[in-house]
Amino acid sequence: MNESTITVEQIGAVRRISLNRPQARNAQSHQLLDALDAAFEDARNDSETRVVVLAAKGAHFSAGHDLKQAAAERSGFTVEERWAFEERRYFAYCMRIWDFPKPTIAQVQGACMAAGLMLANMCDLIVASEDAWFSDPVTHSMGAASLEVLIHPWVLGLRKAKELLFTGARIDAAEAKACGMVNVVATRENLERDTLALAQKIASAPPFAMQLVKKPLNRSVEVQGLRHALSAHFDLHQLSHVSEEYQRTTKAGLANAIAAGAKVAG
Ligand code: ZN
Repeated sequence: MNESTITVEQIGAVRRISLNRPQARNAQSHQLLDALDAAFEDARNDSETRVVVLAAKGAHFSAGHDLKQAAAERSGFTVEERWAFEERRYFAYCMRIWDFPKPTIAQVQGACMAAGLMLANMCDLIVASEDAWFSDPVTHSMGAASLEVLIHPWVLGLRKAKELLFTGARIDAAEAKACGMVNVVATRENLERDTLALAQKIASAPPFAMQLVKKPLNRSVEVQGLRHALSAHFDLHQLSHVSEEYQRTTKAGLANAIAAGAKVAG
């Protein structure tokens, strides 16, 4: 495990876990994802921890998965190898955050795109700075069917999710709040303070009762089919990875894909 890819702080009953690859806009390498999953497991087992804040060091929350690492280490993966890799690190790790028994808050600044958007939306609440922006340009830039976890319609509403995915465009923090995806918008200066205040407020409640209110809230969308819909999308996402179109788009080169993504993202 590479501990330097994340940092962990304990502030009273609040455990703050921060992505710590600011020089790479917190691109999610597999080492980072393994460390993050382990950190959540540790927070789950710590009886003193009542709330987890998922934050990020530097100017941006996360630019998504580490595409350079993917190109260097996994371009030769078979269908089976890609399925196993993405099912564990992209899908199951995300669902473990969704299923995390204690309340979670994502603290978001700057870019929150692609897998960054996916990760932040696994948390129960999102506090964003005024300069935060959200996008999923993956379909446009890579020719894949969005991300591994299609959480978008559940947190944005169907129509906004379609707009986001069909255009690949960004939405800013104010618009994300208007859609209901973001709970609180703070100035960049006050982001950490306001997130911590919200976390401490939640942590002041009886913790077992808090867990017992989170579980049925999640179930209220699971009975509407969230878990099956996400699982079914994962399968189609894997199919998109082996389409002719995806092969052509990725052959155009990593640099082009990133440039196209940035352009589409505005
Ligand atoms: Zn994928």
